[in-house]
Amino acid sequence: MIAKTLLQILQESKYTTVLSGYAMLEESGYPAIRDGEASYDIEQKYGYSAEEMLSSSFYTARTEQFFSFYRNEILNALDKPPGKGFYEMAELERRGLFNCIITRRIFGLPETAGCKNVINLHGSVYVNYCPRCKKHYSVDYVRSSRRVPICEDCSTVVRPGICLFGEMVDNQVITRAAEEVQKADVLLVLGTNLRTQLCARLVQYYEGQKLVLVKEEPHFSDRYADVVVNERVDDTLEKIIKELGE
Ligand SMILES: [Zn+2]
Repeated sequence: MIAKTLLQILQESKYTTVLSGYAMLEESGYPAIRDGEASYDIEQKYGYSAEEMLSSSFYTARTEQFFSFYRNEILNALDKPPGKGFYEMAELERRGLFNCIITRRIFGLPETAGCKNVINLHGSVYVNYCPRCKKHYSVDYVRSSRRVPICEDCSTVVRPGICLFGEMVDNQVITRAAEEVQKADVLLVLGTNLRTQLCARLVQYYEGQKLVLVKEEPHFSDRYADVVVNERVDDTLEKIIKELGE
């Protein structure tokens, strides 16, 4: 029943912007390295928290340790394919129901699943560059590096194009994301609540009347949404696609 309603909302919308949150990562089986069990294991293993190691000061002061952690815990996670929710998202984009996807997650899962118009607020592990000569490098280059990845042309340390703690998010990226939210008829929030940083930063730009929230765990801020579905994201998207038919 809810799938029918959601499909109708999407079909009536001229422009739908999607905010993709952390629960979609969890549904894909990616580790939540900043909280829960995984974060405890990381502190045991490295002697620092994931947040400390992903900070700009740590990157500068302990570059080799940063890359050891980054390769083992972040890049090795890429062996796991995106969960079905991301493939469903790509399918809905291909069929014209999703127009833009915005996320703070750095694993590039929407793109790997085939999504085209994606804004990565915090960058992506797939973007790596030399800060001095601007030469770009593949994620495999960084992954296969020993100690630290070095630019072939100028011997500078190659940097992942992600936003580290203590760094500002690129202003142009924020502006583009705000514009995508502002022009949306429907704002679809998937797998996150309205109090997370992703939403807190962007929902204020939304001027429409249909804020739709899909999130398994209820949250007190759900009442600010116009439509709430307390279900897994991947299950909900699957039902919408079934409803849509061939
Ligand atoms: Zn260089």
